[in-house]
Amino acid sequence: MFFKIQRLVLLFLFIDVSSNLLWPQLFCRRLENVNLVKHYMAEKINSSSLVKRGPYKFWVNYSPFYNLFHLASVWKKYPGEVFISRSFVNTSYSEVALAHEVGHWESNNILWNKSEFDADRFASHIFGPEKTLEMLIYLNKNYGENKKGNQRIERMKLILSDQPH
Ligand SMILES: [Zn+2]
Repeated sequence: MFFKIQRLVLLFLFIDVSSNLLWPQLFCRRLENVNLVKHYMAEKINSSSLVKRGPYKFWVNYSPFYNLFHLASVWKKYPGEVFISRSFVNTSYSEVALAHEVGHWESNNILWNKSEFDADRFASHIFGPEKTLEMLIYLNKNYGENKKGNQRIERMKLILSDQPH
């Protein structure tokens, strides 16, 4: 019996991990079916004049594997699709994270570190630098502090101080 359960768990883990590689939408639901308020925020992103390649499709990812390692993401393989974890979507900053991910598609340099700054700036154009800064501080506090995170915070503080008062 024990071994059967163990095998089932392993099988599930295998399906979960491989679906994240081959078919990430398998464990996802569309944002409009999960959180209507966030869906309207996402529509606000889609209707922004800054968005040239949309409209984007937003998925909430229920995969345990995804939720362990990601908050939100985009993959080159799925142009125009944005994924966000089930655990993060209902927080007050998830719409900024969605805008950040859309910023990756719009600035079209998903693989470079510099693109994190571009994506943050894009999010700040849609939801404002204050809110974007709040999200970065929140991420740093709740999901581990790292050098890159701090640099992103410093960059956003610069953008905020450049704003007309
Ligand atoms: Zn990013």
